[in-house]
Amino acid sequence: METFVTIERALEIVCQSSIQYTTESVSLGQGYNRILSKDLQSKVDDPAFDNSAMDGWAVRSEDATRVEIGMTTAGEAPSEIGEGEAIRIMTGAPIPKGANAIVMVEDGINGKAHTNFIRKRGENLRQGETTLTSGQVMTPAAISLAATMGHNTIPVRSRPKVVVISTGDELISPGSELKEGQIYESNSYGLCALLEKIGCKPIHHEVVEDTMDGLRNALNSIDCDVIITSGGVSMGDHDYVRKLMEEEGTLHFWKVAMRPGGPPLFGTWNGTPLFGLPGNPVSSHIVFQMIVAPWLSPETPLMKTVQVEMLDPVKGAPKKACFRRIKITDENGKLVARTLTHQGSGNIHSMVAHNGLTHLPPDTDAKIGDRIEALWFND
Ligand code: AMP
Ligand code: MG
Repeated sequence: METFVTIERALEIVCQSSIQYTTESVSLGQGYNRILSKDLQSKVDDPAFDNSAMDGWAVRSEDATRVEIGMTTAGEAPSEIGEGEAIRIMTGAPIPKGANAIVMVEDGINGKAHTNFIRKRGENLRQGETTLTSGQVMTPAAISLAATMGHNTIPVRSRPKVVVISTGDELISPGSELKEGQIYESNSYGLCALLEKIGCKPIHHEVVEDTMDGLRNALNSIDCDVIITSGGVSMGDHDYVRKLMEEEGTLHFWKVAMRPGGPPLFGTWNGTPLFGLPGNPVSSHIVFQMIVAPWLSPETPLMKTVQVEMLDPVKGAPKKACFRRIKITDENGKLVARTLTHQGSGNIHSMVAHNGLTHLPPDTDAKIGDRIEALWFND
């Protein structure tokens, strides 16, 4: 077991574990944000036939004057024209045989004939061409492309099943009445949403009390690919996740050189990878972003690295990388950052009021005007 590791080392250790994925077939309607597990070939040429890019007339470019002999609209089979003839045509309609150009409706039937207003069969895609590759995230445009290629189902990677368990005797589900000393449990909801965002299948477990038996029973009762707990990983007498993992699980690391987020742990419980995230809401969120998500789904990064100029000073942390919450904006082409709220690791509002994090190296503060590395949350 290693202790007080850097974030890079923590990721190295985590990456020694792997998840067994299977392939499943889903309908296109269910495909958004899934990860393609096989290359996809087009079943058709796109366009499937020469068609008009404009409303106007299909004509022969060599004719000086023309008479209209009919009309064709999208969805019809192609017609035919001869010398001096034109067919009124709508966007997307097949080019009549004999025509080689389009006159725009606004130019009148004897106007300029444009050969480049014909969309040629196969100019976008050829039948058999691979345009979507295994490992790719199915964005909205990728979903449209799969449909264009004739696929109504797509092969995707199975979504890892991740159980999220909050621990703590003080935690009450939002919506119930709070008694003295109690707080609303929030971490599991945010963590489940983060898991959704990176394409996993979150399973929300009820809150587990701070006892060895309670926690052991909960961990033994679940069947999943990954376990995420929140709370109970510090040095306190009631930090039972750490105790149970030390005594009965397999621990790979405990404590990471980061603030917020100091005491996370990683190991396995009966062979299932387990992340013990800290209970402080901001800490649990940031440890997930920095260590859990890059391992679970490198294809769907939650943030991007940018350089920002600080408009407020921020304090770093001794011996730890420091992630202060910042609001990044683009001012005349330059990224600048401000701090807006209280920065405590218990203040989840700071993660909403801001849209990024400083990534200060250990023992480094930032003054007004300093250019520093920052992490900008993806929408
Ligand atoms: P712990 O890591 O269990 O010592 O908790 C650290 C702090 O985070 C305490 O103030 C807890 O009340 C709070 N906390 C722990 N778990 C949660 C949770 N699931 N939701 C909201 N706050 C929590
Ligand atoms: Mg606790």
